[in-house]
Amino acid sequence: MKLVLLGAPGAGKGTQAAIISKKQNIPHISTGDIIRKALKDGTDLGKEAKEYINKGLLVPDDIVINIIKERLNEKDCLNGFILDGFPRTVPQGEALDKMGVVVDKVLSIETDDEVITERLTGRRQCSNCNTTYHIKYNAPKLEGICDVCGKELIIREDDAKETVINRLKVYHESTEQLKDFYKNKGLLVTVMSENNIEETTVRIFKALGDE
Ligand code: AMP
Repeated sequence: MKLVLLGAPGAGKGTQAAIISKKQNIPHISTGDIIRKALKDGTDLGKEAKEYINKGLLVPDDIVINIIKERLNEKDCLNGFILDGFPRTVPQGEALDKMGVVVDKVLSIETDDEVITERLTGRRQCSNCNTTYHIKYNAPKLEGICDVCGKELIIREDDAKETVINRLKVYHESTEQLKDFYKNKGLLVTVMSENNIEETTVRIFKALGDE
């Protein structure tokens, strides 16, 4: 399955993508994770992206399109993949079409902005394996420590309150148009995501026709 996940930052895309990826045995590709890793490793891409990501702004289309082009050429993508955070703009969606990628479904995970702000400011991410937690709704067994690999949990710089507000604004301005882009292609399915991860997962598999 070639699946695109849409949804505001903090709507639960990453968490749900990890679950779908495991169940369907297809890679979870997050442009946000790829860019954050580049930032941490101090690569040219990281240096270029830094000023955007830390302000909650979108990285320019040509940069992310190249990242995705390279990633989708890797062997593990042959049987499908889940795109989390790409495309985010209509030109990125058009670029995916131009690459010859035929998407099976586009799943939009919807959540109120207020809920999102609470979620993101309480979010913690593993500094090593990127597994995400929430201090209230999905707490790790040991505070500040990753259940999966035992490494330290951190607060992402772009989860600071002001940045979150900006990211939501950017999302509504640029990404909402993508919903229409995919609605017109007959690919869009929508799922509400409240604060229960399992319930959202059930809704998603139902929407994907895989119960
Ligand atoms: P995310 O983890 O998906 O919320 O992404 C974090 C940040 O990475 C975003 O706020 C952007 O600065 C950048 N980013 C990730 N994916 C994209 C994309 N498809 N287009 C532009 N910027 C992106």
